[in-house]
Formats: sequence, C-alpha cells, structure tokens
Amino acid sequence: MPEALMRARFTAFALGMTEVLLATWAPETRPPRHALEGAQPRWLRLDIEASEAQPPEGWVRFQALGRQDGRFFTLQETSRFRFDDAAHQWFYVDGDAQWRSLSAGRNTSCPCGSGFKAKRCCARD
Ligand SMILES: [Zn+2]
Repeated sequence: MPEALMRARFTAFALGMTEVLLATWAPETRPPRHALEGAQPRWLRLDIEASEAQPPEGWVRFQALGRQDGRFFTLQETSRFRFDDAAHQWFYVDGDAQWRSLSAGRNTSCPCGSGFKAKRCCARD
C-alpha cells in the first residue's frame, strides 16, 4: 500500500538508508545515488493527511518536519505511487513538494510535538 511505503521511505530518509530509497523509487524518476548521500536534513516528524490506492495508481498527501542548518522547515507534498505488476510492488513516482521554513524560537515548544522546549529537543544542534 502506498501509505505503508510512504512511512517506510520516511524512515529510510531519516536513517539514511539509501538502498531502500533507491529500491522503492520508480526507475523513470529515480535520482542518482549521490543525490541521496552527503548532507541531508534531519527528519523529525511525518503526518499523513490522506491517501488512496487504486492499483496501478496511488497517492499519499503528507506533511513532514525537518531541520537543516539550524532551521526547522516543513515539506508538504502529495506523492504519486504506482504499482508495478512485474515487480509486484509499489514504487514512488514523484510529488509536488512545497518547502517552507518554519520560524520556531528555541524557547517555544518544539514543532515535533514532544511538549519540550525546542532548545531541549530538536533544536539542540
Ligand atoms: Zn522536538
């Protein structure tokens, strides 16, 4: 299911599991390996807002929270997936990524939702 794959891929992004990302990316839109390595944002939270699976097509709308270079940001996207009969698995195809920086002070509650102040949580970098 696309939603389960979305969650697995978020975890793979968060942990830097490049092999998983490549293996679940549709060959026609798959980026080169080096684009997935090197400095990457820290991924902190995933909220799936809606999803639908009607093989061979599916989509997942989500918002993700990340942090890079000392700043929080959000990524909103509707990701498209397709089911490949030959491989018998879903692949991520593409998405309409919208990135926004998030102005969260170090003394405000952390945007990850932990309830701690940001400086004692995800903004400890
Ligand atoms: Zn946090």
